[in-house]
Order: sequence, then C-alpha cells, then structure tokens
Amino acid sequence: MRRKKFLPFALPYITKDEIKEVVDTLKSNWLTTGPKVKEFEEKFKKYVDAKYTVAVNSATAGLHLSLVSLNLKKESKVITTPYTFCSTANVVLESGLELVLADIKEDYNINPIEIEKKIDKKVKVIIPVHFGGNPCDMDEICKLSDKNKIFIVEDAAHAFLAEYNGRKIGSIGNLTVFSFYATKNITTGEGGMVTTNNKKLKDKISILSLHGISKDAWKRYSEEGNWYYEVTHLGYKYNMMDIQAALGLAQLKKAYKLLKLRERIANIYTKEFKNIDGIKIPYTSLSSQKNKRNAFHLYVIRIDDKVLKIGRNRFIEELKKEKIGTSVHFIPIHLHPFYRKKFGFKPDDYPIATKLYQESLSLPIYPKMSDNDIYYVVEKVKQIAKKYKK
Ligand SMILES: *Cc1c(COP(=O)(O)O)cnc(C)c1O
Repeated sequence: MRRKKFLPFALPYITKDEIKEVVDTLKSNWLTTGPKVKEFEEKFKKYVDAKYTVAVNSATAGLHLSLVSLNLKKESKVITTPYTFCSTANVVLESGLELVLADIKEDYNINPIEIEKKIDKKVKVIIPVHFGGNPCDMDEICKLSDKNKIFIVEDAAHAFLAEYNGRKIGSIGNLTVFSFYATKNITTGEGGMVTTNNKKLKDKISILSLHGISKDAWKRYSEEGNWYYEVTHLGYKYNMMDIQAALGLAQLKKAYKLLKLRERIANIYTKEFKNIDGIKIPYTSLSSQKNKRNAFHLYVIRIDDKVLKIGRNRFIEELKKEKIGTSVHFIPIHLHPFYRKKFGFKPDDYPIATKLYQESLSLPIYPKMSDNDIYYVVEKVKQIAKKYKK
C-alpha cells in the first residue's frame, strides 16, 4: 500500500459544531473574557470533579499562576520530572523558584522514590506530569506531600478525563492544570484550565489572570458592570477569551466520544505490535492498568536497537518516507542547551529519562484518523521492523 497524502502526527477534531459556536460568539460581539468563558469554567468542573476552575490562555500560564498563587519564599524548591515539555520547568524559574529534577520510572512518569531522595526543608511543591495521559503514582506522591507539607501542582496537559483509583485527575492535587493546545485531547486553539478545591487559591489565580484587577473586572464594559476597578495584586494577562471558550464548549460535549476513539486506536496498535520483534510497547501506552484510566493523549513505542539494525532516529526517517508523521515526547529538560548551561546537567544525571528518550517515538493517535490511516500505520511499522531485523 502507498499513500500520496502525508498523514500528520496530530490533527484537531473540528466539525460544524465548533464552527457554529465560534461564529455565534463572533456575532454576539463579546469576543474576550465573558459569558462563554464562565460557562466553559462551570461545565468543565463536572468532567474533572473539581469545585473551582479558572480558564486561562494556556496551560503554561496556568502552571505559572499556580506557582505564583502559593506565595512561596524565593529560594523554595520545586521538584518535577525531566521528562516533560519545557514549560513545566520554565515556569518554575520564571516564578523565581529553584528547579529540582527527579528521574522517571520505565512508565515515563516521575519516580516517587527519586522524589523522596530530593526532599529537604526547602522543597515546597511537586509537579507530577501525567505523561501521555497515564496518571502518576498519586498515592505515593500524596503521602510524600502530606508527610512533608509540600503542595502538589499537577501538570495534566495530557490527562483530561484520566482517573487514578476512581478519582478524576483534576480533583487530587492542590492545583491541577489542563492544556487545550491544538494537539491536546480537546482544544481551544490555545488555552488552559486550572482546577482546585481551594477557594482562596481559585480567587487568587482568577485575579492574577487578569492584571491583578479586583473580581469580575471582565464585566466592566457590560450593562451590569461598573467603570471602577482596583489593582490589588501584581497580575498577568493570562485570561481566556470567549472565542476560545466557544470552541472549548463544543469540544467538551464530545469529550467522552473523543476519548473512546483514542482508546480504540491505542488498543488496535497494542494488539498489532505486541509480538513484533524490536518494538516495545511501554506501560504508558496501555489501557488495561490496575487502578488507572489512561487519557491516551500519546501512543509511544520504543525501538530496540539490540534487535533492529536501526535506532529511533532512522525509524522516524523510514516512517516519514512512507508519509507518516511522528513525534518524540519529550526531549528531556536536562538535555536542552539552556538547562545544560544553567545547571551543568549531564545526560547520565537522569539515566532512565535519557534512555527512554533515545528509544521512544510517538505514533499518530487522534479521532480524525480513519481505519485506513490506522491500519496504514500498523502495516508500515511492522514492515520497517521486519526489514531492519538483525
Ligand atoms: C502541552 C504541554 C504543556 C503546555 O501547554 P500549553 O497549553 O501549550 O501552554 C505543558 N506541559 C505538558 C506536559 C504539555 O504537553
């Protein structure tokens, strides 16, 4: 089988529902933060079992505000994983806090044993990242947090609708942050949501997200609004706008359907690849895990160059020749020039992260894929593995 058209690594699921919602918003003349954002915040709560939500213009903004809202002393330390997108680490430094990395386990998630080794009096926050939508070991992380009085701010950019021990991601840590970037499980183009059960943190984040202006400032140009406002905190311009929320509302309605479609693709891949020499299916890509519900944001495979003549990089090139788009999640924090220079990191400082990075590639997994697309990927992955077997 040959393809003429390139199969992209990711595509959003945009239908006439999304287009209608956005056009309605444009016609309403209320473009920026307004009634749609409020509605999106209200409806989102039910999907993640959280008491409070604040919509923001990216998950990065949400993570930044989360750290700022905790009012930590300058030299406080934040522990997170090297195996994440740069924004998780960037916001720590941007908040004037100290970055501490703890290596991952073979499931790509932060290792609670490594966290424990790094805990001292200065550690005030742990940021677990639910890699690929597969929840971290939250029981162990919560125990460490309780014992040492450490806040938990979850990076749930991949984990919308994921569950841990029957609890929704979004209802566990002190604060949880979701992303609606174009490639994420549901999208608003750019966007994010902070969830919490703590009203004080919610109010603080809400104020900080719009210049530090007193509550309900967004209403000041409406009939019920008032011209008078006060700046009470040093805030940011991180508010979500109604055009984004309109997209989000349309996506939210089909969120469970989209998750099912992702899960189906993951299960097909797993069934087809589980006995292929040279291809390893890591834990993060599987659905049947005790006490966890995966959100299937990514489907990662590992290329075993002890079995194949080619490694991960060549495998990506081969798939590209067959017109299949792939990606690598993630280039670990400690391997980026900025962080290497600043902290003097060496690849062996976080050996599991470095090893998994070298072997991993992410295959296309998104609801817009047709069965033809899915089985085309299956066929080509198998062909390449067979062709390059030692
Ligand atoms: C996408 C992503 C982010 C950032 O999300 P934005 O909404 O683009 O700011 C943060 N962390 C992880 C793990 C991500 O994949």
